[in-house]
Amino acid sequence: MGDAIELPRVRRFWVNTETCIDQRRCVIEAPLFVSDSEQRGGPIITSDRPGNEVEMLALLNAAWVCPTASFKLELEDGSVRDSSDRDLRELCKAWSKVVG
Ligand code: SF4
Repeated sequence: MGDAIELPRVRRFWVNTETCIDQRRCVIEAPLFVSDSEQRGGPIITSDRPGNEVEMLALLNAAWVCPTASFKLELEDGSVRDSSDRDLRELCKAWSKVVG
């Protein structure tokens, strides 16, 4: 089933610190890329180079769970996605079933 769903490649990501509420759901989903900060203003970005599908999915999930759509992804096609994006939500749901 995983072969039937194409996982988009993440070119880069960032956090909109103006809208981030420091609630850290993204840190739980993508600990390879973001970590807790003692200060307000968003998590610390520790890496911005997703390599394999598992890492890509972690970033997609981090964007998906963000309650304020502050975790932004730029995909390979140039589109910018966040949790307000219905397609992103559906994709993450589908992949979460694939990987359990
Ligand atoms: S999940 Fe969203 S609001 Fe919460 S810390 Fe991450 S970017 Fe900020």
